[in-house]
Amino acid sequence: MKVKVSDDRCIGCGNCVALSESQLFDFNDSGLAECIVDTIPSDLEEVAKDAIEQCPTGAIEEITEE
Ligand code: SF4
Repeated sequence: MKVKVSDDRCIGCGNCVALSESQLFDFNDSGLAECIVDTIPSDLEEVAKDAIEQCPTGAIEEITEE
């Protein structure tokens, strides 16, 4: 599973950073969240899904690989 954060939609609320305890998401220099791992470790996939569901602006989405 891979995810990405859309810069256009992220408002820097920090929800995903807190939820993942900075293991999956962290703030970049612009104060916006970004995914800091290439592939979500399997034991953290539920956390990533929760982050997707709970992002207030829908900024996080799963990347579907072809
Ligand atoms: S939860 Fe959404 S809006 Fe909030 S910091 Fe994460 S990506 Fe940005």
